[in-house]
Amino acid sequence: MRLLLVEDDQSLSRVLVRGLVEEGHAVDASGTVASAEESLMINQYDLIVLDLGLPDGDGMELCRKIRAEGSEVPVLMLTARDDVADRVGGLDAGADDYLTKPFAYPELAARVRALLRRPANSASPILQSGQIRLDPAAHTVHHDDILVPLTPREFSLLEYLMRRAGQVCQREALLEHVWDAHYDGLSNVVDVHIANLRRKLERPGSSNSIETVRGVGYRLRRDPSDESGDNG
Ligand code: CA
Repeated sequence: MRLLLVEDDQSLSRVLVRGLVEEGHAVDASGTVASAEESLMINQYDLIVLDLGLPDGDGMELCRKIRAEGSEVPVLMLTARDDVADRVGGLDAGADDYLTKPFAYPELAARVRALLRRPANSASPILQSGQIRLDPAAHTVHHDDILVPLTPREFSLLEYLMRRAGQVCQREALLEHVWDAHYDGLSNVVDVHIANLRRKLERPGSSNSIETVRGVGYRLRRDPSDESGDNG
């Protein structure tokens, strides 16, 4: 998933970025309201972690503005004090959850996971496509009931494809949501990861579930038996 972290405390920001990237997210970090607004204009995010006190403005104002523009992106607010007014204000401004500083990283990671699985239909948070079953909460993938060990990036890539089963996902969109805005490594990184995923998910006698759409990107084949409406 692609996250925007708005936090002016650089050492805290570094720790959070490192942790979230290790979990397989693409993270853009902003230290000011202005640069956050710029990132929001250019990119689509799956979640925003937003500090209240920023050098050039107020996280609460930014949250209100995001909601006023009609965005439903989950917002996790970070407050410096355990202040009831701040917490209530944050929720009123449209934040989905808040965390009081100081906090331990695993606590933030748990809130992020909870917020990211919320839109995916709380009745069936587990994604199923053909023989592949992905559990976003447990961070596990099973193929024919056999656990498939994936790297965080592979997991993220597969989750993105499964949430859009049957749709063509452009290579650029995959790069944007699974890596970050300024990724400038290998240009074939998406193809390399897709190849690894296929190899890990392949079973004798079963056809490839990730299809190549020439010149565009990839599509996870929607199994006719999956018409349970899991993917909305
Ligand atoms: Ca701050």
